[in-house]
Parts: sequence; structure tokens; C-alpha cells
Amino acid sequence: MASCSEMKVGEVYVCEDCGLELQVLKSCADSEARACSCSEPLSCCGEQLVLKQ
Ligand SMILES: [Zn+2]
Repeated sequence: MASCSEMKVGEVYVCEDCGLELQVLKSCADSEARACSCSEPLSCCGEQLVLKQ
């Protein structure tokens, strides 16, 4: 779900297990290199991070 290529600036992603929250300050889509080659979603505690509503 929360693969970094889908993350947009300003979004906050949370780990529902430990409560970690990450805010996107810059997305890889904005990068000039556009060199993102992630195939795995970002995860914490073994679970995918989810978009905070
Ligand atoms: Zn966690």
C-alpha cells in the first residue's frame, strides 16, 4: 500500500503497532532523478505503514 512512489508531500504515515508517524517532506516523484526502484512497501514492526486520515 504505502510504497514510496505513491507517497505525496504532506502525507503522514503511521505504524499502527508502535505509533511511529512519518511525514513526507519530499517525495521521490519530485526528485529530478526519479530513480526510485522500491518494490517493497515501507514497513515498521513487520507491518506496512498506513496513511493517516
Ligand atoms: Zn512500528
